Amino acid sequence: MIIVTRKGVTADELDHIRERVEALGLRTHVSRGEHRTIVGCIGDEERLKNVPLLSIPGIEAVHAVLKPFKLASRDFVATPTRIALGDVEIGGNEVVIIAGPCSVEGRDMLMRTAIDVRASGARALRGGAFKPRSSPYSFQGLGEDGLKILADVRDETGLPIVTEVMDTRQVDLVAGYADVLQVGARNMQNFSLLTEVGRLQRPVLLKRGMSATVEDLLLAAEYVMSEGNPNVILCERGIRTFGTATRNTFDLAAIPVLKRETHLPVFADPSHAGGRRHLVPPLSFAAIAAGADGLLVEVHPDPETATSDGEQSLDFEEFRALMTSLRAFVDAAGRTMAELRRAEA
Ligand code: PEP
Ligand code: MN
Repeated sequence: MIIVTRKGVTADELDHIRERVEALGLRTHVSRGEHRTIVGCIGDEERLKNVPLLSIPGIEAVHAVLKPFKLASRDFVATPTRIALGDVEIGGNEVVIIAGPCSVEGRDMLMRTAIDVRASGARALRGGAFKPRSSPYSFQGLGEDGLKILADVRDETGLPIVTEVMDTRQVDLVAGYADVLQVGARNMQNFSLLTEVGRLQRPVLLKRGMSATVEDLLLAAEYVMSEGNPNVILCERGIRTFGTATRNTFDLAAIPVLKRETHLPVFADPSHAGGRRHLVPPLSFAAIAAGADGLLVEVHPDPETATSDGEQSLDFEEFRALMTSLRAFVDAAGRTMAELRRAEA
């Protein structure tokens, strides 16, 4: 349920409204918009049923929220959520590109990739140290050594790092290095992991599960947010359908649907969606046209030798070309490409 307050509601009135609601055992969440302040109520709404809420000073209207997600809903939060990452902000007018290899394979390849993607316009570096692989015999990532390499490359290049956390037992370790904690598609409904990353304030890049609906994705975000971490970035990365022409089926429409339903930033991952490098540019253009706040793109110095996802990784030149053509789409969408604020090192 949401309570819409009167224009010019006072701080005392607002406190009183919250006290009344909380006294009934519900939690409140206040969102201050440009024009109105909204008090979201979470919990057993039956308890509010017999309270004459409209008689409480400062309350103008009361609406039921029929959606199962609350904190992630646009109804609850009046303004788009913006998340600071290094010297850029995700979720504002700027489009932010995060690029890097699927897996951290070593210091040299990561450093070369970071320097190159930064020069091409990426504003953060991705790279997995813990890899969720379909087969237990595939490369599983460098683990903590990979995290150390990521931190080292961040120190050298200034690029914030985005890396996956796969297990509740790794949360503290990964959070000791990462600027953004990635929760992968296979873990989107790992509720213990979502709860654990929700206890931190570190931004979480939450990927859509392969068979998850948009509502499932928003409820997964709700798990993180209800623990107290509002910094969630959603990511459409393709879902499993009966189509076999692409690795996954890129659900382009999910982007505007999410933008309508939630105040959270929405990213797209054209690499995992398409699964082939030639699909990355068209899917990137489409994602930006559909309203994505940024892209997560796999880039490798030599895709042919990549330990994971080489087929869908761009080389440096391809990424540079993508960034050049992407700017026109960003402009056409009325957005701006996030540029480097600090002087290039
Ligand atoms: C990845 O980003 O490399 C990855 C494993 O992604 P997803 O969880 O979307 O498959
Ligand atoms: Mn990958």
